[in-house]
Amino acid sequence: MNNSIYSFPLPANEPVKSYLKGSPEREALEAELKRQKKTVVEIPLIIDGKEVRTGDMGEVVMPHDHGHVLARYHKAGEKEVKMAIDAALRARKEWSELDWTVRATIMLKIADLIAGKYRALINASCMLGQSKNIYQAEIDAACETVDFFRYNVAFASKIYSTQPKSAPGQINSVEYRGLEGFVLAVSPFNFTSIASNLNMSPVLMGNTTVWKTSTTAILSNYYLMKIYEEAGLPAGVVNFLCGSGALIGKHTLESPDLAGIHFTGSSATFNTLWRQVGERIGQYKSYPRLVGETGGKDFIFVHPSANAEEVANAAFCGAFEFQGQKCSAASRMYAPKSLWNDILEGIRRRADEVSMGDVCDFDNFINAVIDETSFDNISSYIEYAKAAPDAEIVVGGKCDKSKGYFVEPTVIQTSNPHFKSIEEEIFGPVLTVYVYEDADLEDAIKLCDTTSPYGLTGAVFGRDRVAVQKVADALRYTAGNFYINDKPTGAVVGMQPFGGSRASGTNDKAGGEFNLIRWVIPRAIKETLVSPTEYRYTYMK
Ligand code: NAD
Repeated sequence: MNNSIYSFPLPANEPVKSYLKGSPEREALEAELKRQKKTVVEIPLIIDGKEVRTGDMGEVVMPHDHGHVLARYHKAGEKEVKMAIDAALRARKEWSELDWTVRATIMLKIADLIAGKYRALINASCMLGQSKNIYQAEIDAACETVDFFRYNVAFASKIYSTQPKSAPGQINSVEYRGLEGFVLAVSPFNFTSIASNLNMSPVLMGNTTVWKTSTTAILSNYYLMKIYEEAGLPAGVVNFLCGSGALIGKHTLESPDLAGIHFTGSSATFNTLWRQVGERIGQYKSYPRLVGETGGKDFIFVHPSANAEEVANAAFCGAFEFQGQKCSAASRMYAPKSLWNDILEGIRRRADEVSMGDVCDFDNFINAVIDETSFDNISSYIEYAKAAPDAEIVVGGKCDKSKGYFVEPTVIQTSNPHFKSIEEEIFGPVLTVYVYEDADLEDAIKLCDTTSPYGLTGAVFGRDRVAVQKVADALRYTAGNFYINDKPTGAVVGMQPFGGSRASGTNDKAGGEFNLIRWVIPRAIKETLVSPTEYRYTYMK
């Protein structure tokens, strides 16, 4: 038994590589993109460390060239879901009782494998399968995934070393036990790093998972699973399932051993899961922990003292990077009339400069949206705005799904502060702007606060710092991640712990100790050194 006391200090963030022409990282990535484009991977389910093939198949295609098949995957049925639950429960005892530093070393090894040997593999699979350009893949699939692993180990170390006071004659301690049962991890399509962390933060704290992958992120998620195995993650600790969300959700939630759900995705799906848990609440062995990061209607609020060029840049990047498919993407903006023309001109100029297309052409800033359902949904909002008397498309507005699912960066200007596209989450490259009279600043702040049910991210721009503070205070509950003079996207692990409240989720802040603490059930232990034998109070003697 190794009796060392390890120290895991806060790490540095994984540096973002530049991918300049001729750089070794660019050459490695180009070679890997070529390899993955030439291959059709067969993706099995991975249950209890074994590959399981059901023959019920689905296809992974490139969103920017949907005729190109990258992989074929096996879908889980009821039988495989039950096998995954059994495997997670079997693996749980040994994993939860293992010295936590051994669990931590596996996490740190996965981080090193992704940062080095498999960086090109994970980035290329994210680029091709989820249509991210190099930069967007690098900050997600490589850097943020690695940061989650390394920071979580440091945060876990802090949690385990948080211990109560002892007193003369007694020793007190808290044992941070993993949950009693399995955790269902349900991941979204848009971040490879989130998919990884939804499993691995519970796993680090001694839990085992059944992983419902997103159907449109299966390729990168499969490679994550293979890297976990190479790093020595024992069989059954993470059980990789592809297939229908409704089916996998139904059968996992039926199990009395469900101990928690770690979810990221839309509010509607999280509501469904929460409702199903609520309906069965008497059947579970413990109250399942429900942790969900969900939708957003993220805003930029422009104070009349702002610099129009800075706002235009933030609006352009915040709304259109990765085609607006970040939960934090700016999708509504409140701009004062005095600045609007300059801001609009700045956004238009940028939209005219960028090109849209395949991720393998590195000059393309904009790529495709994730799939046909999403494309149809986004274009329906654009069509609605085109026909509406109280809105106008002032930038972009063209959509084409003939080869890939392409939607131009689009700005809708509306005179109706309750216009459909300024209230509902669209999850695409569409920014809706309401222009307010400078004299109506207070009303505009109120609109920003009350228009959407969400509370994920928001930004305020202005040079008058006192006035900006007043706006920030008035908008205190509008966002779990709030930015001053910066775009509302791009949270970095260890720097801006991420999550929102209201309809945006439980705000347990992925990549921080608040999240990790949800995956333990502490046991307080008091040991008395010499047990008393006298029952009478002192004054009775
Ligand atoms: P989604 O809700 O459609 O799907 C998320 C996952 O849930 C997928 O794996 C899906 O298969 C699964 N699912 C669907 N129905 C299910 C059911 N009945 N039971 C169990 N699982 C089910 O979301 P998406 O389209 O993948 O992702 C986009 C959404 O995620 C947006 O709303 C975005 O705002 C949100 N998001 C939020 C954050 C955050 O941190 N707040 C981060 C990323 C994405």
